[in-house]
Amino acid sequence: MVGVVSKPDTRGKLEILSADAQYDLACACSCSKDEHRQRGGDGKWIYPVTLPNGGKSILFKTLISNVCTNDCRYCPLREDMDVRRCSLRPEETAKIFLDYYRQRKVFGLFLSSGVLGSADATMDRLNAVARLLRKKYGFRGYIHLKIIPGASDAAIEEAVSLASTVSLNIETPGEANLAKLSEKKKYIQDIIEPIKLISSLTTRGMKYEKVKQTTQFIVGAAGESDTEIVKYMFGLYDRLRMHRVYFSAYQKGLGDESIAGEQVPLERPADVFVREHRLYQVDFLLRKYGFAESDIVFEDNGNLSLTVDPKEAWALRHPEFFPVDVNRAAKFSLLRVPGLGPVTVRRILERRKQTCLRRIEDVGKVGARLIRAGKYVAF
Ligand code: SF4
Repeated sequence: MVGVVSKPDTRGKLEILSADAQYDLACACSCSKDEHRQRGGDGKWIYPVTLPNGGKSILFKTLISNVCTNDCRYCPLREDMDVRRCSLRPEETAKIFLDYYRQRKVFGLFLSSGVLGSADATMDRLNAVARLLRKKYGFRGYIHLKIIPGASDAAIEEAVSLASTVSLNIETPGEANLAKLSEKKKYIQDIIEPIKLISSLTTRGMKYEKVKQTTQFIVGAAGESDTEIVKYMFGLYDRLRMHRVYFSAYQKGLGDESIAGEQVPLERPADVFVREHRLYQVDFLLRKYGFAESDIVFEDNGNLSLTVDPKEAWALRHPEFFPVDVNRAAKFSLLRVPGLGPVTVRRILERRKQTCLRRIEDVGKVGARLIRAGKYVAF
């Protein structure tokens, strides 16, 4: 067993384990930078989120254990770190969650864990909580289970059969980048193959088609570029039907400082948060605005611009596309205008059925976004 396994009470363990769960964002958390790091007032395990169907909810979010035999260099819980270790038992976890659920303080559960000995031993604990909730206590609500890298097909299939959403963090784009972060995790075998298996189990027409799969990239830990992340993100959506991809800026001081050595020059902390934000903007362009991978504009260093958002970067690269005629353009073209989002475009399409739009004020209340849009449209 790794570290000191102390014996605080359940609430004491939750204090420790829910605080350690905060860096995992692959849980349908909001993509707003400020919102997805919020915590509820009752305890760090109460967590406001945006659900996959768009609704808002509150999750009970914790690790089941912060003991870990892995060596991920960006992670404060890796084996050689001196942190207070503890674990929740499955029955204990199910009961404390149900206490909160019955008081209507939370509506679902997000459960993750460090690696307790082996991937399958850990999956067995995670699955045991979901099994208890579903089969013993008849809970039909939202359960998000983390899939541990290297878990067996059988353990993964059981998790998929019990959960509403499962996630296995891809962490970084490609084998070479992962090798900089961990000597134990095998990119293809432990991460990519399981993600593919989940995709095949949850594809349309299959028994578990309603189960969603999400994943997360750590941004800035491996010296990877945004070009690489976007390429992998596109493949995850396009070929593996990933429901959502999340991004978490690597935070200096949490992980192994030697990551900051010559091999992987770290960025200024503020820049990595801007990178995270830009990647979320690209994610929206791919999922909601009909952008293709080839539409994304990168700087010479392979990253997205820190100063211009990705939609405007595309617009500046394609002056031949503008100005867009507000009264005649197709929805696709309107969505390409910087400053126009799906809600405003829907309003334009509605209003122009009734009247001819003559100026930017006819589109809506003129704020910074519409002023920006005004530079790219004609009436
Ligand atoms: S598997 Fe890696 S990221 Fe997860 S808790 Fe262990 S060291 Fe941290």
